[in-house]
Amino acid sequence: MDAKERMKLEPVPMPELEVSERLSSFAEVNLGYSEQDTQAEAERCLQCKKAPCREGCPVDVDIPGFIALIREGSYAEAGLKIKRTNVFPAICGRVCPQERQCQERCVLAKRGKAINIGYLERFVGNYLIAHPEEQINAAPATGKRVAVVGSGPAGLAAAGDLAKLGHQVTVFEALHRPGGVLVYGIPEFRLPNITVDNELETLRRLGVEIRTNVVVGRTLTIADLREEMGFAAIFLGLGAGAPIFLGIEGENLPGVMSANEFLTRVNLMRAFDEDYDTPVQRGRNVTVIGGGNVAMDSSRCALRLGADSVTLLYRRTRAEMPARVEEVRHAEEEGVIFELLVAPTRFLGEEGHLTAVECLRMELGEPDESGRRRPIPLPGSEFIVATDQAIIAIGARVNPSARLVMPGMEQDDGGHIIVDRETLMTNIPGVFSGGDVVAGEETVIRALSDGRKAAQAIDNYLRSK
Ligand code: FAD
Ligand code: SF4
Ligand code: SF4
Repeated sequence: MDAKERMKLEPVPMPELEVSERLSSFAEVNLGYSEQDTQAEAERCLQCKKAPCREGCPVDVDIPGFIALIREGSYAEAGLKIKRTNVFPAICGRVCPQERQCQERCVLAKRGKAINIGYLERFVGNYLIAHPEEQINAAPATGKRVAVVGSGPAGLAAAGDLAKLGHQVTVFEALHRPGGVLVYGIPEFRLPNITVDNELETLRRLGVEIRTNVVVGRTLTIADLREEMGFAAIFLGLGAGAPIFLGIEGENLPGVMSANEFLTRVNLMRAFDEDYDTPVQRGRNVTVIGGGNVAMDSSRCALRLGADSVTLLYRRTRAEMPARVEEVRHAEEEGVIFELLVAPTRFLGEEGHLTAVECLRMELGEPDESGRRRPIPLPGSEFIVATDQAIIAIGARVNPSARLVMPGMEQDDGGHIIVDRETLMTNIPGVFSGGDVVAGEETVIRALSDGRKAAQAIDNYLRSK
């Protein structure tokens, strides 16, 4: 088939759960490509020599290379090719904001027909999970021990690469379940926990030990890790999990909560599952404040927990929403009402419980430091939205407890750990860091990329000793 014929082929849509079936369960909405779908989608790729799609990928996955292997039916080889730069294709295929990364740069994007790179990546990622024998084995043991603190994507990527390089790795996680945001934040209907557990299993097969319920800085100190337990290097992947609040009147009313608390109860502590007795508020008329993935996840969870209505308040327009396009579409299909160009000004209560949120309409002004047009309040445009549960999803910051982890470690005013850009080493020799605790709220693939970069730097550091 020549390029002209390939360009005529239509993109293969992702099979999805019917909307009517979605709201009664937390089952995954995207059902995944069949082998036939995968072949049909791979067939559309033009195998561009310069491959601009690669420039859009933060970790430079060899996209035409893995798609060519898919066409040959060499799925394990395709997966291993991706794994050279992205350790978790089954996860990134599901959660990367592809429309702003690899797919945005695809030469077919201008025609609205970008190759569905994420869907193909997910297929081969799943294939590798189903065929664990195809995974890369660890190098001979070096006898060096490395501690990884935090089991989000940054920590897990660092752990995996360090283990492959032959080091003995122990991951310490504060929560009872490893995975960081992948398990406590992103809901089952987007990223099933089983997918994360399967990737964790791959790490365990490489010899990585994962110890949960250990808060480094409290249960154990860095000094314990180094001096008593003999870890020669440490990677800190602590994330940025402390919620940001609006700071407006009535925010302490019962019924107002952070998305972090709501999602943790629902996802990590499985409040949606009858077999668990985790308490969670099931609001009737829920309001969610924010326009990112966290806001979409909260809205869609609230609908699944039985809300009559979920209204999302966002102070800019749909075009500025930071959420993945697919999540916005799914939220809308499922019935989330979008109130755009709106900001809450105070929460109102009766008899000690939230009953409404007062809002102000906005218009867009000049771009601000984020590059997005600044919302400007329209005086006198106040209106009231009746609500019995408000979920605040306007962002997160580094947990102040990160300061306790390592006394003397340099952090900026926002608590972000300061590292050398090349090596990701902190000011404390042998202690490295990456992911959201360094960069602020970012993406899974950026955290994975930091973990890998740090693993290489830690290996160099250990070998130079
Ligand atoms: P985290 O994933 O936050 O993991 C940090 C881990 O460290 C946690 O498990 C924490 O318990 C542990 N920890 C912290 N302190 C200690 C300590 N002292 N001792 C031991 N353990 C400790 N990104 C995308 O690319 N696509 C998406 O669709 C997407 N959706 C998101 C949805 C939600 C609800 C949220 C909250 C974020 C989302 N993100 C998404 C962002 C992405 O998940 C993060 O950028 C990424 O998880 C950061 O990885 P990390 O490893 O740095 O930190
Ligand atoms: Fe695209 Fe993410 Fe895969 Fe890179 S890792 S190719 S950005 S889906
Ligand atoms: Fe294939 Fe698009 Fe990349 Fe070209 S730019 S190699 S068509 S995915």
